[in-house]
Amino acid sequence: MTATQTLVDRRAKLLGPNVSTFYDDPVHIVRGEGVWVWDADGRQYLDCYNNVPHVGHCHPKVVEAICKQASTLNTHTRYLHEGILDYVEDLTDTFDDPLNTAIMTCTGSEANDIALRMAQGITGNTGVIATDHTYHGNTMAVSQLSCTNPPPDRWNNVAFVPAPDSYRPLGGEGGQAHAQAFAAEIERAIAELQERGHQLSALIICPYFANEGFPTLEKGFLRPAIDAVRKAGGIIIADEVQPGFGRLGTDFWGHQKAGFLPDVVALGKPMANGHPVGGVVTSPEIMAAFRKNFRYFNTFGGNPVSAAAARATLRIVHDEGLMENARAVGDYARDGLRKLAETHSCIGDVRGSGLFFGAELVLDRESRAPATAFTKQIANAMRRKGVLLNFLGIHYNALKIRPPLPFSRENADLMLERLDEALTETPLAP
Ligand code: PMP
Repeated sequence: MTATQTLVDRRAKLLGPNVSTFYDDPVHIVRGEGVWVWDADGRQYLDCYNNVPHVGHCHPKVVEAICKQASTLNTHTRYLHEGILDYVEDLTDTFDDPLNTAIMTCTGSEANDIALRMAQGITGNTGVIATDHTYHGNTMAVSQLSCTNPPPDRWNNVAFVPAPDSYRPLGGEGGQAHAQAFAAEIERAIAELQERGHQLSALIICPYFANEGFPTLEKGFLRPAIDAVRKAGGIIIADEVQPGFGRLGTDFWGHQKAGFLPDVVALGKPMANGHPVGGVVTSPEIMAAFRKNFRYFNTFGGNPVSAAAARATLRIVHDEGLMENARAVGDYARDGLRKLAETHSCIGDVRGSGLFFGAELVLDRESRAPATAFTKQIANAMRRKGVLLNFLGIHYNALKIRPPLPFSRENADLMLERLDEALTETPLAP
């Protein structure tokens, strides 16, 4: 039995069935540095996928901040400590007014769970709208918002709207017509909730529609939908777990790029470069409404070590100009993908922003029929070639490229070269 198979079997035995891994031949990585990871046999891979090591795997300044604080003090969060306050000040400086208070958590799921409670607290309502192709986390309440991994017992206070798809827009037309069609779906969902006895508390969305396949939507696309939500008395929760912290290159936050101001923002994954940190940012008014009804306490959320790791990560994004790097290298890599599209007709649509981008692979450009199985084969072929990326989207045919932010033009060239080979060598299949 190979060493990989032994680990796969141990995982199944110890962690239970259905624990997901990437790739037909899972990678056993043991070390990381910058945009690189190494497997147990010493093979090096270019990491084009991981947004958790946001400022690069094992960034020495994050490691130093963690070690320094861990060797000084770490405890629960019922004592006074500057760490959490210094961090929340730095964090909320990146938001527009009045988003200047925060709760720190350990995961994005907890952050979204709190966001839902905040919405209930401020509106007094219970209805929630989400898109039909997203994921907001794994708590009992938050898992209700998923159609792709549905809970066995669906609560009746959640209604779904079709995820925006710029390549195949609702109603057949892009631009304003698409925005209006999306808003009409929101109005339909509000009415559906009312029929079930729920007034609207919130629309929860990723402003970049990351899990839905990051469609190309113009600034202001969400405005008509947001107007409909506010008219019905609801608030807007922006799940920034994926697009935030400068990844999109042009703006620090996805909602800033999308051109709207949410009421509550949920954060996670990249926040502390791999240390488990999430958070919720909101206005003092919503925070007060939440805290009034619920004495929220989180043992680990914002503990001194987590706060130090998060603060170091945020500082590195600014000090090393990583948002600007995401913009420049992302533009360069997308140009490279468009060049590949000249010789590979399976590339139907190249899209994305900063270092969160990819290409939708299709059987032919005329019908835009998704090449779902082929896309999976390409991700596996890239893994064999030493480049880690993955795929997602409504039809699971969008290559997802989302590397640590120090990703360089040379790294992009290597990824594009390997992708050219993989697309040439793999027969197109539905
Ligand atoms: N929101 C989004 C958009 C996510 O992609 C995820 C995780 N994939 C979560 C929330 C949940 O975060 P966590 O796994 O830290 O609970």
